[in-house]
Amino acid sequence: MTDNKKNKGKPETKTKQLQKKITKLKNIINEKEKYEKLLKKNEDVFKSLFENAAIGVYRTTTDGRLLMANDALVKLLGYSSFEEIPEYPMKDIYLNINDRTRFVKKAYKEEKVVGFETEFKKKDGSIINVRMNTSLIKTKGKKEDYLEGTIEDITERIKAEKQLVAAKEKAEEINQLKGNFLAIMSHELRTPLVGILGFAEIFKNELNEPEQIDMAESIYSSGRRLMDTLNSLLDYSRLEANKIEINKKPVNVSHLLADAVRSFTNIAEKNNLYLSLKIIDEEINAGLDAHIFNNIIFNLLNNAIKYTEHGGVTVEVNSMPEGRKRYAIIKIKDSGIGIPESSQEIIFEDFRQASEGINRQYEGSGLGLTITKRYVELLGGKIFLKSKIGKGSTFMLKFPEIKIKSGKRKSSSDKQARTKSNQFLKTNLPNVLLVDNDPITIEIAKLTLKDICEIDAVLNGQEALDKTKEKQFDAVLMDINLGAGLNGLEITKEIRKDPAYSQTPIVALTAYALAGDREKFLRSGCTHYISKPFDKESLINLMNNILHQ
Ligand code: ADP
Repeated sequence: MTDNKKNKGKPETKTKQLQKKITKLKNIINEKEKYEKLLKKNEDVFKSLFENAAIGVYRTTTDGRLLMANDALVKLLGYSSFEEIPEYPMKDIYLNINDRTRFVKKAYKEEKVVGFETEFKKKDGSIINVRMNTSLIKTKGKKEDYLEGTIEDITERIKAEKQLVAAKEKAEEINQLKGNFLAIMSHELRTPLVGILGFAEIFKNELNEPEQIDMAESIYSSGRRLMDTLNSLLDYSRLEANKIEINKKPVNVSHLLADAVRSFTNIAEKNNLYLSLKIIDEEINAGLDAHIFNNIIFNLLNNAIKYTEHGGVTVEVNSMPEGRKRYAIIKIKDSGIGIPESSQEIIFEDFRQASEGINRQYEGSGLGLTITKRYVELLGGKIFLKSKIGKGSTFMLKFPEIKIKSGKRKSSSDKQARTKSNQFLKTNLPNVLLVDNDPITIEIAKLTLKDICEIDAVLNGQEALDKTKEKQFDAVLMDINLGAGLNGLEITKEIRKDPAYSQTPIVALTAYALAGDREKFLRSGCTHYISKPFDKESLINLMNNILHQ
């Protein structure tokens, strides 16, 4: 028998039970109030977040009824209150209503859409760019689905982007103009140098009076200096404009060096300096652009000779391992004036020379090493300098080596042909047509080639075409820019139409000497190229090669 049964009917016990129930109920009410308070607090937080958010927040039905919009969104759309916005505002808001259709479709497909960009019309008709994020809220049954998310005004950002694109286009246009200007300047400066260098070279050889020979030599070396400066400035501008075309191929470093060193033997001799080449390993190959590599070596050798008064210059090429790789190491070592330690870094900077200002003793633009360093880096190499004042300098180049299977040496027959001097009888000389509108070039070419060929010169395209119809020439020397009328490439095209001239060598002889020009002319029907101003030896060698092979 339980106590309950025993106490049944006692009024005291009933009261206790009632009190217990009341306490329980009170507790429940307290809990409820607590939860309601918490809920209210959370609701306030969310309401405050919703109302005070700097970005627009919304909820719409998927068919476009606007259910909620915070103050930021109301303002973004140019209205003064939520109530003022039409119930179905999408047609008025979207500049292109198809964007809204795309947006809803995307939301159904992906459920969350981030960064959808479109254009909105504000209440006053002005257009803004917006970026939208949304989530699709699906409801079960017949109830409609919702889209809710944020809308941000990105008009300023888009404007800035457009300005940036416009500025970039403008810069590109200016760059293009700069490129054209460079091409014209290069052409205009090279053309008169043909006269200066060409005649000076002819005088040097033909004059008898030592004083006059000296004068001719001065004109020649001044002209060359002008041309070196012009070349440096052009190289520098092309580097600055990233306009250097690189054509890397496996090349034999030792052979390239041998050719470069050979071209400096005369000047070294003249300055009473020795110039030696030490090839420690002949089969050293690297992936290089031969033209750019030659420029690098030319600059370093030129400096080595220029800044050396006693002793001479040694060029050394070797192969060295480092880690798992091998490197071609080229050293250009002189016994010259040396470079003070304080200047060893700055001489690689633009326009810097070790002895600057009015105290500078050596001529030069101070661009050579800047260009050299950039060229070396473009070819994937590195340049180092060791120098002691009064003792000399060593410039070291390092390029990754590559292995090529066949170690076959290049045939030397073309070299022999190139150095072959004129051994032909004047009576039986080949006929060459020279097309050039510059009378000075015509005169120099005639004098330079007088022992190699007979030259018929014409000044324009029409005369050239008439001449080729009249006579079969063995070769044509073709200037490209001929002023008014047909240009050299157009004439070449016309000449090539005649079957008798389909195989005739046509040499582009031109002051267009920027990167890519040679390739352009060779693609357009010319078989050879020589830039103006040409030196006597190069023109003679080229024509000998063409006419007497
Ligand atoms: P520059 O046209 O003046 O020769 P570079 O850029 O080729 O210009 O060289 C910068 C400077 O570095 C030179 O003016 C010279 O002072 C110094 N320099 C370059 N090479 C040598 C060298 N082999 N020996 C001594 N000084 C050198």
